[in-house]
Amino acid sequence: MNQEKKIAVYPGSFDPVTLGHMDIIKRSAVLFDTVIVAVLSNSAKTALFSSSDRVNMIQELVRDYPNVIVESFEGLLVDYARSKNARIIIRGLRAVSDFEYELQIAQTNRVENPQLDTLFLTTSLNYSYISSTIVREFASYGGDISPFVPEEIIPLIEAKYQH
Ligand code: ADP
Repeated sequence: MNQEKKIAVYPGSFDPVTLGHMDIIKRSAVLFDTVIVAVLSNSAKTALFSSSDRVNMIQELVRDYPNVIVESFEGLLVDYARSKNARIIIRGLRAVSDFEYELQIAQTNRVENPQLDTLFLTTSLNYSYISSTIVREFASYGGDISPFVPEEIIPLIEAKYQH
């Protein structure tokens, strides 16, 4: 029997983490021995939260899930996954509009590292319209973001838009 631990990486910007992301994290935690939520630390992209803030926020939110680890990463996802002995990349699929790009990335990653498979989890229907972009947009106009993000992080997001 194969005793190898099943380690999966769930990469993303998570700027900020939404209820849709949390749903994927929790469902993945049931499927794998270890889930590494990998926060993309991309200096070229202007982010609302620093990668360390994003890591801290998610860490707080998953503290009841002992097999979920949160880290930031830089560079190629395939290299990061290899360094973690992960064989699975998890991505969430919201709509057909996500599909073309996600398929291309998944196929590219498999060429780069044939050991690596991408697993798509379809979003839960009630979260399918949520994106970090929508959250930032709503928050910037003082909108109610409580339907979109975990309540613990609402004050942190709102504080970013107070002048
Ligand atoms: P990226 O910049 O890599 O797209 P995101 O933080 O926007 O990072 O998303 C990370 C992953 O989570 C992606 O696979 C994305 O499709 C998925 N995702 C985003 N929003 C949702 C949602 N509402 N429900 C399910 N999955 C989602």
